[in-house]
Amino acid sequence: MKSSSSRSIHTRHIPQRTCLGCRQVRAKRELIRIVNTPTGNIEVDITGRKAGRGTYLCPTLECWEVGLKSNRLDHALRTGLSTDSREQLMKYAEENLKGETSAPGEKTR
Ligand SMILES: [Zn+2]
Repeated sequence: MKSSSSRSIHTRHIPQRTCLGCRQVRAKRELIRIVNTPTGNIEVDITGRKAGRGTYLCPTLECWEVGLKSNRLDHALRTGLSTDSREQLMKYAEENLKGETSAPGEKTR
């Protein structure tokens, strides 16, 4: 006897966010959150749990550059980013993120 197992597909809801740089909608956990904390600090929020107004960027240098060089980040965080904050974020990106394109000078042998 066959019991037609009609498994109810329970699609788990995956929270999605839009990247500020490329405007692509991605799963929230694939993105990096930047938060404007209640004290007015702009921080990279790796846990995604910090209080404050946050926005999301892909873990790619390109998106961070777009977000930081335009005023999209200011707009999204409802604040004016200081040059300091901008530099801090860019530094974070350069140290922790990889560009989509291979680094210059690193040619395939
Ligand atoms: Zn992006």
